[in-house]
Amino acid sequence: MTEPTIIPRSEHCISRDNIDENALKVLYRLHKAGYRALLVGGGVRDLLLNHVPKDFDIATDAHPEQVKKLFSNCRLIGRRFRLAHIFFGREIIEVATFRSSHEGQDSDGIQDDAGRILRDNVYGDIEGDVWRRDFTVNALYYDIADFSVVDYTGAMEDLKNRQLKLIGDPETRYREDPVRMLRAVRFAAKLGLDIHSESEKYIFEMGHLLKDIPPARLYEEVLKLFHSGQAVICLELLRKYKLLQYLFTQISDCLDDPIFDDFIGYSLQSTDNRINEGKPITPAFLFAAMLWKPVMRQNDQFIKDGMDISMAMQNAMTSVIKQQVGMTSIPRRFSMVMRDIWHLQFRFKYRHGRRAKSLLAHHKFRAAYDFMCLRNKAGELQDDSCEWWTRIQTMSSDQQEKLLNPAKKPPRKKQHKKPG
Ligand code: ATP
Ligand code: MG
Repeated sequence: MTEPTIIPRSEHCISRDNIDENALKVLYRLHKAGYRALLVGGGVRDLLLNHVPKDFDIATDAHPEQVKKLFSNCRLIGRRFRLAHIFFGREIIEVATFRSSHEGQDSDGIQDDAGRILRDNVYGDIEGDVWRRDFTVNALYYDIADFSVVDYTGAMEDLKNRQLKLIGDPETRYREDPVRMLRAVRFAAKLGLDIHSESEKYIFEMGHLLKDIPPARLYEEVLKLFHSGQAVICLELLRKYKLLQYLFTQISDCLDDPIFDDFIGYSLQSTDNRINEGKPITPAFLFAAMLWKPVMRQNDQFIKDGMDISMAMQNAMTSVIKQQVGMTSIPRRFSMVMRDIWHLQFRFKYRHGRRAKSLLAHHKFRAAYDFMCLRNKAGELQDDSCEWWTRIQTMSSDQQEKLLNPAKKPPRKKQHKKPG
């Protein structure tokens, strides 16, 4: 048994003022009912780092059914992890029962031949729960009983040294769940932590295990990485650790092209800026940008092979999306928008008449225009399209009309010969 270090309230900076009101309600109710109730994971880590937590996860020794009895607004979910979701309007507070690690358990925990965890519904106590978490900094608990922080793994020291360290033997932990490699990249980027040398060493060798992860899960992870507000750094780290190829196989060699490399850099920078300014973002734009070069390359190839121009682009889009969804799924509502964004790129050259007018009115004009301006900025488009289409949007509809449909020249007057 390992003794935890208990950091009393007076020696850490977590204040209840910074904890979500509903999370506090859940913690208090569990505690009053006689259960252990602790905040755990990203919430504790982020508060200690003075970041604003994305969500507040709760751990308890109450079993899911016992949690459900305490809260009328509770639903139990999940097969792999049985969790309680407690609903407060649109907000959901997630409550997980302590789970034990698997060694020596005659249990409900199941691993496959490769050592991957398939199911782990083995309830335990906090001591077991700690060791199945991924990184030390994610295994800190804030105890509502006395407002202390409970540290079993030396996480406070790691936080001080800004180290992201896997709990236990890195090779085993990545084998159990290869997505932990992507989580390492995300937390390092988001929190400005260094991946500990032992934890980082194996990433270089074990990336290929991501091939076995279901596309739906990788899609979620891609969004978490690239919509974290630190997409530029995430991309840099994914390249450094040779993981990008398992998320976007088709672009691996495209990044050797400095123009595309810049285009991706600018796209991700603009995503980061939008997130940090609180503006909306869509997965469609991210995937459209990432796959732009593969689509164009496939399009050129089809044309070279003699395919009709209009068919070539349609088929290129279909083929690239099809290959991508073998790695990360893309919901159809987003792949439809990706196709719009790509297809509209060919229409910015028409600056007159009905064609230009219908482009301006297209429901995906704005996304396609932003995309086109990034291509322009990266040097792929070397004309004044971005400028021209920016200007026209600032005009009144009368002015637009004049620009798109300049009045026809008046017919030349017939020269009447003077009668002689
Ligand atoms: P954030 O919510 O800011 O993305 P988080 O650390 O809270 O970060 P979650 O995915 O919400 O991440 O998971 C909550 C906690 O569950 C983590 O802090 C970690 O302790 C544990 N956890 C999540 N995923 C894994 C995993 N794949 N392997 C081991 N532990 C995990
Ligand atoms: Mg979380």
